[in-house]
Amino acid sequence: MSLRQLAESARSKAHAPYSNFHVGVALETVDGQTFVGANMENASYPEGWCAETTAIAHMQMAAPGARIKRVLVLGQGEGVLTPCGGCRQRLSEFSSADTLVECTNLKGDTRTFRMDELLPAAFDLDPSH
Ligand SMILES: [Zn+2]
Repeated sequence: MSLRQLAESARSKAHAPYSNFHVGVALETVDGQTFVGANMENASYPEGWCAETTAIAHMQMAAPGARIKRVLVLGQGEGVLTPCGGCRQRLSEFSSADTLVECTNLKGDTRTFRMDELLPAAFDLDPSH
């Protein structure tokens, strides 16, 4: 299954009754494993979290220490959805400068960024990343 297909499936499991904005993410690790996530909203709005966060948690729980090779973020609406600032930092924690982040929408519009384009001069306590 492609990352897009995985992200579509994940997106269908989003819990977004407040915004009705469903997001799915699929990521591939350097060693070829794939993990997915969807956004999870909450009646107490700030307690919700983004699809990237779900996918990263799945990855770290199943494959501790895994590094991200590429990520696909599938949103809705006219433009392509890029990760929010917090998710850029979260992705950076498990990525390299050349990790690819493919941002796309339901129509198939796509923009692909390197991690160091999305988060230049990233905060990183371990510069070996
Ligand atoms: Zn986010």
